[in-house]
Amino acid sequence: MSSSTVSSTEAADAAVEAISNAAAQEATFSLALTQDQKDLRDWVHGFAADVMRPAAHEWDEKEKTPWPVIQEAAKIGLYGWEALAQFFADPTGLTLPIVNEELFWGDAGIGMAIMGTGLAVAAIFGQGSGEQIGEWIPRCFGTEDDLKVAAFCSSEPNAGSDVSAVRTTAKFDEATGEWVLNGQKAWATNGGISDVHVVIASVDRELGSRGHAAFIVPMSEAKGISQGAKVSKHGLRASHTADVYLDDCRIPAGYVLGGKEKLDERLARVREGKKSKGNASMATFEASRPTVGAQALGIARAAYEYALDYAKEREQFGKKIVENQAIAFTLARMKMEIDAARLLVWRASWMGRNQVPFENAEGSMSKLKAGEVAVWVSERAIQILGGNGYTREFPVERFHRDAKIYDIFEGTAEIQQLVISRAISGMHIS
Ligand SMILES: Cc1cc2nc3c(=O)[nH]c(=O)nc-3n(C[C@H](O)[C@H](O)[C@H](O)COP(=O)(O)OP(=O)(O)OC[C@H]3O[C@@H](n4cnc5c(N)ncnc54)[C@H](O)[C@@H]3O)c2cc1C
Repeated sequence: MSSSTVSSTEAADAAVEAISNAAAQEATFSLALTQDQKDLRDWVHGFAADVMRPAAHEWDEKEKTPWPVIQEAAKIGLYGWEALAQFFADPTGLTLPIVNEELFWGDAGIGMAIMGTGLAVAAIFGQGSGEQIGEWIPRCFGTEDDLKVAAFCSSEPNAGSDVSAVRTTAKFDEATGEWVLNGQKAWATNGGISDVHVVIASVDRELGSRGHAAFIVPMSEAKGISQGAKVSKHGLRASHTADVYLDDCRIPAGYVLGGKEKLDERLARVREGKKSKGNASMATFEASRPTVGAQALGIARAAYEYALDYAKEREQFGKKIVENQAIAFTLARMKMEIDAARLLVWRASWMGRNQVPFENAEGSMSKLKAGEVAVWVSERAIQILGGNGYTREFPVERFHRDAKIYDIFEGTAEIQQLVISRAISGMHIS
């Protein structure tokens, strides 16, 4: 092990400790941001306005990962495990949504290229042992000179909303002490271009989703993992999405998140009919929903601000179009909806960070509302810009294309409603 790996692992251990200490502190919910949060927000906003916005159209057209922009983010300390650890460590839980809102205000495609790694990180952080966290989270990001991204691979061609339908298998080969993975993953953000892939696979099909586990599959070490077709998308086009194939892919025993011993104990409990801690994909999605909601908010705010400025400039019938109630009232509702969604996102982020249980599926509520608001607000923004809104000369059509995914990934709008309705009724709604 090189000395740089040792120091990075030690630093990662220190970050894990700092986050754990912060988690032990309780923070009361408050809308009043601290000076540190305001400074961080303004710093991220500066990067979004000066670096991301000017690059947004180009990378949307190119449909490629904007490595130079990620590099810029890494250079100023905005992309990297240290930054994410700092955002996570805030005991109020508000820093992460604030950062996401600003980045996605800058541009959602580039924002996802920068933050997409976070889903794999959330899985490792949520399910990994201390040692795995220390080793693998830094490897998700690489170094400033050798940047990496990471992928979280749960969905499959026949397992989207229904994560229990995952067909990828992980079998333990006692002879070699390795896991052998086989299957096809679909829609993976950063799939195939990452080093670290967190792959959800079934260890025991008979146990359904409770027989799933999460595995670290590093492209640089494992044979039998490859990228399938890259997906050409409606929006978020600067973010890479692709299928990932696992073909007799062998990884060491210790690459299952949480460790093999713990997995064996959990599976034994499930086989005895005892309760287990839910499923590997759902745990990751549950934790990340408010953050995803904050991303949608950033797009909504960008669309609203653009439409407001435009309406105050554009004249028809001898007056500014904003002077018509039809336009002004729409803008008023756009602003109100964005603020309402932000309150839900911040509440859920605070609850998640302070381990207040989501008894009424508050995480799902925040993501559902923010996604719907982003789609509605960006569509209204197109309307306010008229013909200009429909062209690629103006950014609102891109905002709208980018917004739509927030009704779909990390649980569709229908699935969020299912989760909320089950939580409030205590019944199995289907
Ligand atoms: C850009 C992009 C990036 C993505 N990134 C990732 C990633 O990094 N990792 C990953 O694992 N996955 C990723 N996904 C996959 C994403 O999470 C799935 O697309 C999503 O979960 C929906 O699954 P599906 O597409 O198979 O739709 P389906 O599950 O087939 O759903 C189709 C429609 O049926 C509805 N429906 C399904 N079941 C029900 C029900 N019980 N009640 C009511 N309505 C229902 C859905 O709401 C939807 O409207 C990504 C997808 C996209 C498009």
